[in-house]
Amino acid sequence: MMFQQEFTYETRPVRVVFRPGAAVTATPGEAARLGLRRLLVVCGSRGERVARSVADALGDSCVGLHPWARMHVPVEDADRAVAAVRAAGADGCVAVGGGSAIGLGKAIALRTGLPLIAVPSTYSGSEMTPVWGLTEHGTKRTGRDPVVQPRCVVYDPRLTLSLPVPLTVTSGVNALAHAVEALYAPDVSPLVSVMAEEGVRAMAEALPLLAAGPEDLEARSRALYAAWLCGACLGATTMGLHHKVCHVLGGTYGLPHAETHTVVLPHALAYNAPAAPQALTVLRRALDADDVPRALWELSGRLGAPRSLAELGLPEGEVAPAATRVAGEPYANPRPVTADGVRAVLRAAYEGAPPEPADGTAV
Ligand code: NAD
Repeated sequence: MMFQQEFTYETRPVRVVFRPGAAVTATPGEAARLGLRRLLVVCGSRGERVARSVADALGDSCVGLHPWARMHVPVEDADRAVAAVRAAGADGCVAVGGGSAIGLGKAIALRTGLPLIAVPSTYSGSEMTPVWGLTEHGTKRTGRDPVVQPRCVVYDPRLTLSLPVPLTVTSGVNALAHAVEALYAPDVSPLVSVMAEEGVRAMAEALPLLAAGPEDLEARSRALYAAWLCGACLGATTMGLHHKVCHVLGGTYGLPHAETHTVVLPHALAYNAPAAPQALTVLRRALDADDVPRALWELSGRLGAPRSLAELGLPEGEVAPAATRVAGEPYANPRPVTADGVRAVLRAAYEGAPPEPADGTAV
């Protein structure tokens, strides 16, 4: 494989603590290390029990629990959370939960500049990125700002023991999608490639173990380690067609985040494969498979994940309008994005058939 001779890589100061039990045993010490004494803990309603245990562990350093995080951070939720932060006189936040809880913590950081500690409970990877998202009038805006990057990430594999198998699988494939697109991103670099390969390998090993035994703590640790690596790839690079498709399907049609990534990834990768030979070489090695899009499709399907956008509730009549939206804006992608190409990707994802090996025309 050719060595990449030109690259730029920027690392951001984030401290990572990884160990079973760390949510409760490490978070108070991490807060003290950052000099924080008045923390607001944010979470979603389903994650309130776990978040409360973190709040209890913080003791007098916790000034409140705000259990109102929802998917895609509606702007009115951000307003309410900022008001809660101000009313409590908080000097920082701890977000406990999946990408939705961390998203709300980021929205608070964006508006107030307060530092954020993330305690993730899914494999979404948001904790490793400076990317924020806010939804207003049905449109999701995203942006990059170093202020929203958590200052410390506390990875506790025990928190993920309660993730149901279907969400374990789809959230795991969501993580794989970050690594896949990082490998052919315009700003990929050798370190990102190493993290992506290791992340894909570790996640692909862990998911079948977790589908068979969701309480296997070692497999949980491996999956969370993979999620960290894949999240770091997401934070370091610019995503392409796959993430754009999922952004439109989630933001405009309300399709569920991790499931949508799972259905779309094999088809988006089949489209890009002819234009990304280096990425495919890495992915073949990581997955020990020749036909990578097919291997991803088989992995998630075998573990019971949804296979089609039809199952996720996308009306058939929206395939063409969604494709027009995805093709309508310029963004980085290894293969030129054409309206016909996107329509074919979305049509294949809508139907859920195995991805066709792309012939490479129009590359
Ligand atoms: P989520 O946070 O909405 O969680 C999905 C569901 O799982 C929720 O009902 C939640 O309560 C539940 N849950 C979470 N952890 C659990 C656990 N350990 N046990 C049992 N149930 C649990 O979903 P997600 O997929 O983690 O995140 C999706 C959101 O994050 C989207 O809004 C997406 O846009 C955003 N995101 C942002 C970035 C970024 O870099 N900004 C990256 C990835 C995802």
